[in-house]
Amino acid sequence: MASGEDASGWINIKAQEWINIKAQVMRERYTWYPWIKERNARHLRELEAETRHGVQDFVEDNVTELQAKAQKFAKTENGLDENFTCNSCTTDDLTKIKKGQRTTVQPPKQCNNKICNEMKNVFRKDHVYKRPSWGNSDAKKWNTDAIEVAKLFMPPGYKDKDTFEDVDLHGHLNVIVNCKTARDKLKDANIAENAKKFSSRARHMSGDTMTIGDFVDGADIYLKLLNDPAILKYPKAVESVKKIEKIIDDVLGLKIFGDLRKCLHLSRSPMHSTAVSAMINTAFQAKEGLCHFTMNASSELQQNVITEVRKKQKLESDATCDQCSTEDLIPPKPKRGKIEYKPFCPTGYCDSIREFLVDQHAFNTPFWKNTDARKWSTDPWELAKVFMQHGYKDSEGAFVVDFNGLINIIINCKEMSTKLNDPDVASKSREVARKRRHAGHLEVSKDEFKEAVDVYTALLKETGIAKNASAKMALKVMEEASEMLEE
Ligand SMILES: [Zn+2]
Ligand SMILES: [Zn+2]
Repeated sequence: MASGEDASGWINIKAQEWINIKAQVMRERYTWYPWIKERNARHLRELEAETRHGVQDFVEDNVTELQAKAQKFAKTENGLDENFTCNSCTTDDLTKIKKGQRTTVQPPKQCNNKICNEMKNVFRKDHVYKRPSWGNSDAKKWNTDAIEVAKLFMPPGYKDKDTFEDVDLHGHLNVIVNCKTARDKLKDANIAENAKKFSSRARHMSGDTMTIGDFVDGADIYLKLLNDPAILKYPKAVESVKKIEKIIDDVLGLKIFGDLRKCLHLSRSPMHSTAVSAMINTAFQAKEGLCHFTMNASSELQQNVITEVRKKQKLESDATCDQCSTEDLIPPKPKRGKIEYKPFCPTGYCDSIREFLVDQHAFNTPFWKNTDARKWSTDPWELAKVFMQHGYKDSEGAFVVDFNGLINIIINCKEMSTKLNDPDVASKSREVARKRRHAGHLEVSKDEFKEAVDVYTALLKETGIAKNASAKMALKVMEEASEMLEE
């Protein structure tokens, strides 16, 4: 039994597993839909801005605490008055450049009041690697501006940032990780380390290299960080967590969770139009669950047909053809009777694929208008399209096809339907979806809803389908819907 599956075969997904699955789904999806790139990059920036907002007060408070600690230590060491301060020592006075790096190895000029040298030592000790970025900071302001202290814990490049607000997430995360005063307050400093690592990776991600999987990884690690009790005690962090959860739902298209719950709570039979849209959303989620199955099965179908056709026509093992168009291969359908197919392809390759598709179709009637025969050897989806009806010519893959389209592929393609243990679940699901599509009223009864959820669940639990990440995600949605219906 696979992990996460109980005796009944129902997939029981824990929260962490859930986010992993979501990430996996989106990674898979991304490989088919590069246009998501731009959107992903934008969402990543939003995520970082939100996280920055959430950690800022924690960072500021801890740096201020360290600043006060350093001042107190310096004054006690030197027997200075509590109100004493110094604003005349420069960073150059206190540190020197050695081998291109600014360090404390000198002899430095001593602060007349000895306060700045002592503070410098406290800051150095508070740095996890004992390597503050002296070049970032203006020592004259160490007593007055906490940001000048914070910058010691950031990597070089933050010199011109004058407020905590100006500093980006990466800068803040460096303070959290490098400054012991802050770091030691965390329940698990590794989370902050990972967040820092992610943020430096994210700096180099553009629309081209960013995937939705990256986004989910980032959201996951940033949420964990914000949920550390030491950070979450700040109201801004609580705000950020809520906003990030919204961004995640938006990115993953899971807003309907909320909608579904809302309208189910309103559920008195008959339910009103929001319930109808939730019903449609349920079908949408179910079809999302079929995407990988149909995409993968189409690839398999393509491999099988090509191998078989080469054997049948006694062609070379790499023989192919992209010259014959659909119009060349398929004569117009006569008013009466069947289409009379005639050989056209010089090698017989395309003719054999055509025959194979006719044979594969449950009623021997492929829908040729959907397909471009020139792409039969390069794009498996062009083969899958003949098992749908009118209207799917421009679809480039399962993710842009609705439930009805995908379920028709599964039902009409013999090779795919034999992958199901119980082919009836497919026709039942099609029936449920069809009933809803053709319903003349905007009302859904709880029973109708329940029937749909049950039928889609049975379909998605089919062994061949359930192993795909998108099916696991859809099953999770069905599980939620089902629980809500029980309430
Ligand atoms: Zn001084
Ligand atoms: Zn050909």
